[in-house]
Parts: sequence; structure tokens; C-alpha cells
Amino acid sequence: MNSKTSMLKVLRRVIQEVNGARHLNAALATMVRRIRKAMQTDVCSFYLYDEAVDSLVLMETIGLRTQAVGQVVLPRGEGLVGLVAMRSEPLNLEDAQTHPQFRYFESTGEERYSSFLGIPIIHQRRMLGVLVVQQAEKRRYTDEDEAFLVTMAAQLSGVLAHALATGHVTRPAQAKRQVMFKGVPASPGIAMGEAVVIAPPADLNSVPDLIPSDEAFEVARLKEAIASTREEIRAAGRRLAKRISAQELALFDVYQQMLGESALSTEVEKRIREGQWAPGALADVVRRHVQYLERVDDDYLRERAADVRDLGRRVLSHLQEDTPSRPDVYPDNTVLVGDEISVALLGEVPRDKLMGVVSVRGSSTSHVAIVARAMGIPTVLGMTELPLPRLSGAPVVVDGHRGRLFVRPGPELENHYATLVAEERELSELLEYEQDRPSATTDGYAMPLMVNTGLAVDAIGVLKNRISGVGLYRTEVPFMITERFPGEKEQTRLYRDQLEGFAPLPVVMRTLDIGGDKDLPYFPIDEANPFLGWRGMRVTLDHPEVLMVQLRAMLRASLGLNNLYVLLPMITNVAEVDEALGLLERAIIELGEEGTAVDRPRVGVMIEVPATLYQMDALASRVDFFSVGSNDLTQYLLAVDRNNARVSNLYDALHPALLTALDRLARDAQRLGRPISLCGELAGDPAGALLLMAMGFTGLSMNAPNLPKVRAAIRRVAFSDARNLLDEIIRLDTPEDVHRHLKGRMAQWQLAHLLPPEDD
Ligand code: PEP
Ligand code: MG
Repeated sequence: MNSKTSMLKVLRRVIQEVNGARHLNAALATMVRRIRKAMQTDVCSFYLYDEAVDSLVLMETIGLRTQAVGQVVLPRGEGLVGLVAMRSEPLNLEDAQTHPQFRYFESTGEERYSSFLGIPIIHQRRMLGVLVVQQAEKRRYTDEDEAFLVTMAAQLSGVLAHALATGHVTRPAQAKRQVMFKGVPASPGIAMGEAVVIAPPADLNSVPDLIPSDEAFEVARLKEAIASTREEIRAAGRRLAKRISAQELALFDVYQQMLGESALSTEVEKRIREGQWAPGALADVVRRHVQYLERVDDDYLRERAADVRDLGRRVLSHLQEDTPSRPDVYPDNTVLVGDEISVALLGEVPRDKLMGVVSVRGSSTSHVAIVARAMGIPTVLGMTELPLPRLSGAPVVVDGHRGRLFVRPGPELENHYATLVAEERELSELLEYEQDRPSATTDGYAMPLMVNTGLAVDAIGVLKNRISGVGLYRTEVPFMITERFPGEKEQTRLYRDQLEGFAPLPVVMRTLDIGGDKDLPYFPIDEANPFLGWRGMRVTLDHPEVLMVQLRAMLRASLGLNNLYVLLPMITNVAEVDEALGLLERAIIELGEEGTAVDRPRVGVMIEVPATLYQMDALASRVDFFSVGSNDLTQYLLAVDRNNARVSNLYDALHPALLTALDRLARDAQRLGRPISLCGELAGDPAGALLLMAMGFTGLSMNAPNLPKVRAAIRRVAFSDARNLLDEIIRLDTPEDVHRHLKGRMAQWQLAHLLPPEDD
């Protein structure tokens, strides 16, 4: 390696090229050439690991014979390359041919090369491939050489993983095949349908690829869009003529030239004739120019990249004026796919056509997730690696249980999921008949079931006979739909609907729980660690004017009904409870002074911050009931962000630590004479519900679609058996043991069909 600066330069350049490449194969070809040159070595090759055959395939090389590409296949563990992959560590040999693992491939002409340095490419513990450099004469690659390749491999791994997942890299002899993406499960269930990609306006990176039905029309509207953009720029130039320098004004001429007949438009037209619709063709061409300009070592030209992008966006926005970013008619089995799917959009697709939702952004607690759950639409969010433009019209399977999306499923997978869908439907029909019966065990133990609400769509009428109340009304949901904080009257009306609708059943209304990832559009909170930041009670105590309005509205709404319970979220300190109680007291007094005498509602705290586990006595002396927010308690106890797909395998509400904490909470509450319910997702899991019942939770609150399975589970076991199960489970050391044991017992009790489909 020549010097540190040149090494950095090459690294940066290669990563930039690889990152910007629309198709990775070409970028890989450039990469091996650049590495060979930078390291002044004879050969640089890239081997791709193919999981299906557990082997490494030569994908790209400079130095070995190109005919060997796709031909040299090494099972993992075999040959030097296979050894690197198996050990997952670098291998640096001065005299490779004397190594016992050396294997000779005639097709590569490899015998001439003495020295070998191989580096594994690993992404999130997954082997993706091996980078190799070789030299004819004996050469000891230095530490610096090795560090350079290790850095290169580490940088490359993320891009490669993404490209492999999205089909942006073509393996030898592999065309359109089934691909899988992982995200955060946001609403359970399985959906099979057609991807309808929702393009946000004027974003060159999310224009879907579409084949035009009328080329001439596409060309004509492109010309129109360009003409409109030219006119727009001309007008802007005229407006600014007096205010900017002649030099700056000259830029407008450059823009005009770029948009001129011979430049951009000719290229875009060519792409249209090759089979792309106008927006897609424009996006392709602009992206290519931008990539090229960003790469050149010239400041002036690099600046122009931004201009080209800006022009591209302008033309695109004109093109999109007459092509809506969403279809007029949705297919019968629509799966909405987008960078971000808004709740408004959910409402736009007819309910009977909307099968599933997936998006790049969002998390299990984002607004759209909450709405999707209430509507029973299988949803996966936070799919950060989704190649939006490539998905339009593709057949897809959404697995909302496990947070997966399968694109172009093969027949085997399709059959598997079709069976699961049929089973789910049959099951819900089967369970329906017992939904009006009590949720009591075979030995007569009654387990009160409640629902989580927050939406106008909640079907109060049907639910009312089947539940013991509302265990959690998330007040932030109506706040998210409005464009400002709703006023006292507006809130009173909303809360009255809930309280009256469910009366005489109790309704637990939680005070505004924003922050974390629940933002109000008109009250943005931007923090580095939002889940450890300004959230829930912390926000509302800092804004008593907001909290007071809410408390007053709740109290007013409860007039004469006497079924209001107030719940305080994100409590960490008893002082917060005292303060909130003080405000509640004040609200009651104020209303009294205004002539509205209201009863003091019962007040509870959410147990979701681990600190509260150790202050149950102090809390119990202040409030009437507890409600465990297991979603947050899990993330805080396990230090796992509940919305981060990368660590979602660590997020587990059945972790032994959680179960021990919950068991202790239930005992504490009993000792202190306070009811304790649980309103996180765990309550809606039939196996979890049995454990919670056995622990002594006095209520389980869940999303309405989970009620049937939980009720069915409770009605099929004896309380004494559930207690025994808990005794067995609580002794286990690992989450895996817990899951295995639970599954075994559920199967033994013939309840396996109530559990989500198996993970593979
Ligand atoms: C929880 O944290 O478990 C809970 C019910 O509240 P949310 O999901 O709204 O944070
Ligand atoms: Mg919570």
C-alpha cells in the first residue's frame, strides 16, 4: 500500500461507487480493479457465499481468468477461500501452495500465485463472501494491507447484504427469485397480495418502475414537463435578475442547456423507448448523472450534481401532476408499500381490498401500527432495506407475526402461507361461537379480559358484551389525527363517546403518552434517544396547560357515569405521581367552582420503567391500581429498542427476567391490595395470557382482534394447570427454554393452533 491517504481515498471512492450503484455487479467489477491497483498486487477476486449450496462462487476477478467466474465453486471449509469463510477470519499466507488446504483450479490459472490474503465479508454475523488478493512472487502482505481489506470488507458488507436481499446483485445464473425482507412486526396476521407502491411526491429515489402502455404518450408528457420546468426557471431567472450577480444568473442558462433538446431529454426518451415510463426513465437518467458528477475530483462539477438532482425533481413534480402517486383503483388484494404509510392512506383504500401494509419507516408503536392492529390488518414496518421502486405490482406475502415480507414467493412458500391463511380464517370462525361466553378456566377461575382502544373504528357494540372494560384508552391517538392540540370541548366529546359507549364498564384513560416514537405533527420532539427522553408524564408535567385541559375534559366527560379511571404513563418517580395527583385535584376543584361537581376518579400508574418495580409500596400508597406496560417494560429491562429491527430478536416479553419481574409485580400488588392489569402485547398472546393469569394479574387488556384466541385458551385450561405451568416456566434460564416449554405444554393441551405460526 502506498500511503495512508491514498488508501483512504481508494476506500472512500470504492464505497461511494458501490453505494451509488443501482446494480452492484458493475460496481464490484470496478472494486476489484481499484483494490488491485491500490495494493499493487496481481489478483483481486470476490467470492460470493451462496447459502443454498453452502459454497463460495467466484463472482468477480481481475487477474484470474474471467472464464472462471461462476465456474469456481468452493464448498465452505474447502480450499483457502472456503477456509476463510468457515473460520470467519482473515488468512494471510506468504506461500499459499504449501498450505494443506490449498486447492488448485485449472480454470483460474492459479498455480502461479504464491501469496494469498483472504478476508471474510460478514454482515450481522452472516457470511456473505470473501475478498481475496494474490501475488505471483512470495510476498508477505503487511498489517496495513490486511487492515485495508478488512475495512473494505466491513464497509462493503452492509451494501452487499442489502443488494442480495433486494436482488440488486445478480448471482451467476440467478434471475428473479423469491426474496425476503425483515422488519418490525406491527400488526399480526398474514396477507397475500399485490404490492401497491405509494410514491411520495417528487422523490427521485422512490419512483416505481413501470412499463408504459403508450410510449408516445410518455414521451409527450415528458416534453411537456420539461417545457414547464424551463418556463419556471426562466421566470425565476427574470425575477432574480436584479438581485443576483451576472455570474449566478449564468447558472440559469446552464439549467436551460441541461434541459435542452440534446441533453437530458434525449437520454430520458431513449430510456422510455427501452420500456420505462417517463418518471422512471427520468429518475434513472438523473441518478446516473448525479452519481457520475459526485464521483469526479472536481469541486465545480460535484456542485453540479446537486443542480442536476434539483432539476430532476422539478421535472418529476411536473410529471406527477398528472400521475397520481397512488392508483385510482386499488387491486382487490392490495398490500400497501411505501417509505411511510399514513393513517389517512389506510382510510383511502377500501377495507375489503386492503390486505396488508409494509413500510420502510415506522415502528410497532407508530400511529399507523396502532390503527392497523385495531383494524386487524397484517403490518410490518421499519423495513429499512426495502427496494421500493422494484416492488411495484410484485406478488408479496406479509407475515405480520414475524415481521417479514416475501417478494415473488415461490410455489412452496405460497402454499405454506395459503394454508396458514386458511387455517387462521377457519380458526376465527370456529372461535366466534364462544365469544359471548365467560372467560373462565375449566375449574371456574374467572379472568377479566379488557380491550385497548383509541380509535373511532372500535366496534363498541359487539365488544361490550364480551369484555370487562377498556384496560387502556390511548388518548394520544385522537391527538395524532388533529392538526393542533384538541381543545377541552373537543376532548370532552371524544372521551364522553368512549365512557358512555362502554358504560357501565370501567374505562381506563391514559393521559397523553407522546414522545418516544409517538410524535404529534404539531408538537415535534427531536431527540437523540427519544425512548430515554422526554416521554409521557415527563412531557405533560412540563406542560401543565396541556395536561390540565385533558384532565378537565376527562372529568367532564365522566359526569354521571362514574366509570372513569385515569392512568399515568412513563412514571419513574413518586414525585411525578404526586404532581399529577395535585393537578387532578386542582382540576376537580376548578370544575366544582365552575358549577360542575365531578367525582374523583380512581387513578393508576403504568409500570413500564424498571425503577417502579422497586417502589411498589410507595406507589401503592398514592394510587388505586397498577397497569403494566409490558411493551416498554420489556424494552427497558432488556435494553432493547422496541422498534429496532436489528435487535428485534433480543426483544422478548417472555424473557425469564421479564417473567420474574411480572410474577413479583403481581405478588406485590396482591400484598398491597391493589388491582394489577397488563395492557402490553403480552396480554394478547394466548400462552402469555395463561402465565399472567397464573401469576395473579387481575385483568388482561389487549387489542380486540386478540380476544378470541386468549378467551379460547383460558376456557380450555384449569387454573391449577396454569399455576403448575408457571412454576415450571419460572425456573427456566433462557428465553429459548421458555418458548420451548410453553410450546410443548400448549401442544399437550391441544392449544398449539392458537399460537402464531412457527418460526423457521
Ligand atoms: C406498553 O408500553 O406496554 C403500553 C401498553 O403502552 P404503549 O405501547 O402505548 O407504549
Ligand atoms: Mg408504554
